Amino acid sequence: TQTILLKNRPDGKPTKDDFKFITEMIESPDKGQLILHTKYVSVDPYLRGRMRNQKSYIEPFALNEPITSAIIAEVGESNHKDFKKGDVVMGELAWKEHQLSNGKGLQKIPSDQAELSAYLGVLGMTGITAYVGMTNIGKPQDGETQVVSGAAGAVGSVAGQIGKIKGCHVVGIAGSDKKVQLLTQDFGMDKGINYKTTADIQKALKEACPNGVDIYYDNVGGEIADAIFPLLNHGARIINCGAIAVYNKTEMPQSISPQPFLIKNSASMQGFIVRDYKDQFSEAREALTQWLQDGKLKHKETIVEGFDTIPEAFIGLFDGDNIGKMVVKVV
Ligand code: NDP
Repeated sequence: TQTILLKNRPDGKPTKDDFKFITEMIESPDKGQLILHTKYVSVDPYLRGRMRNQKSYIEPFALNEPITSAIIAEVGESNHKDFKKGDVVMGELAWKEHQLSNGKGLQKIPSDQAELSAYLGVLGMTGITAYVGMTNIGKPQDGETQVVSGAAGAVGSVAGQIGKIKGCHVVGIAGSDKKVQLLTQDFGMDKGINYKTTADIQKALKEACPNGVDIYYDNVGGEIADAIFPLLNHGARIINCGAIAVYNKTEMPQSISPQPFLIKNSASMQGFIVRDYKDQFSEAREALTQWLQDGKLKHKETIVEGFDTIPEAFIGLFDGDNIGKMVVKVV
């Protein structure tokens, strides 16, 4: 079976050379063990942080060890009392085509309610991230203006639609004309801005947000976030969800100082990690499922096929290759 190891700690943007494929033998499961056949692999921007050797909310990956991420797998041969052949499970698993497990951390998922890949996206970590960020920090009110960056991505597309469901005027920022078109046509946002082709983002934002900005759902950080500060309204909330624009930087970029803008507007800026909100996961999943069923929430996925494509799919996140959740379908 094939396994993908972290070969080098990436310097700047990850390259295929930072990953190593090896072939391993897989043993038969002992008592209390089972075999998992990988079906869908989630590739996520936060994995870039784990490739750095630095202290964070999650341990860094070790060199020459398998990378792990959220994976959906089918149970094969099982000597575990809680899992039988054919069960579909999800867990933080190694980038391996097949692997042994002791069942720890595995969660069974229904294979008849939604497409399986949805449990890695809209009904999984990214959808739940958008929900808890909006609910706990964004607190959208009818008639407010919300800006969301990374708006055509997995978290951003859901965060923007939650704003619409709550009655906000929503402006999305994304990196291609095709994505910007999707923001309004498919995700129901009011306006889209292509940050790659717009010379003056702040001017474009000002035009798109005539009443100022009450909520900024930030997935990217960097210069786009800087452009927002001068547009904040009294009592505005900034949700620091992600900062993909700086994840590959080798030196910390210069940024404008947000304090004066926060102070004079009694505005707040708060970071969060989705796993700190575990007690809200089931509420989030229920709400997201209901909105999907009611047609109020649309979700998109970019599904790349083949175990071999996992590193490329991951690297592609930094080139904007995905619309909605980036997922690798293995079998
Ligand atoms: P996405 O589906 O949004 O994929 C990443 C997207 O980021 C790309 O498609 C690209 O879109 C955009 N992007 C890449 N490089 C840059 C750049 N330099 N500047 C601006 N945009 C860029 O990923 P996710 O939805 O999984 O994650 C979105 C953000 O949320 C990430 O920052 C992630 O780390 C964070 N996150 C935080 C969590 C938390 O608990 N706080 C949990 C999950 C995710 P484009 O074409 O528009 O450039």
